[in-house]
Amino acid sequence: MKAFTFDGLRPLMGRLERGDDLLEGLERFCREHGVKAGCLMGIGALERAVLGFYVQRDGRYENLTFDRELEIASLTGNLSEKEGQPFVHAHLAVSDEERTFGGHLMPGCRVFACEFTVLAFQGQPPVRKPDPATGLWLW
Ligand code: ZN
Repeated sequence: MKAFTFDGLRPLMGRLERGDDLLEGLERFCREHGVKAGCLMGIGALERAVLGFYVQRDGRYENLTFDRELEIASLTGNLSEKEGQPFVHAHLAVSDEERTFGGHLMPGCRVFACEFTVLAFQGQPPVRKPDPATGLWLW
């Protein structure tokens, strides 16, 4: 087990524009506001979604792509540092009129609207490194 403690909290809110890439936009927000550690949550809608499912035995992501409008029922994640840059690890639940799908937020999610809140933690950020036990970059 690992633990990280922080010295302070800085709450921020933001909104992405229609057409933005969701993951790229969140990482840009973190870079521009100097956020290196924290958590995030958001809601909104997408014009296109790409959700990742990590196939543990193969150590790779399988992508599920939805080329249609979807609600962001839930966006939640954490913020850390990877190779010197802010890194967003987020999971997403998206829904249409009938069903809900969930998974790892991948590049390629096109925003219709997205409002989000970031709680930035002040102090030494967790740094992601390759983890041989899982094949993932973990802090
Ligand atoms: Zn994930």
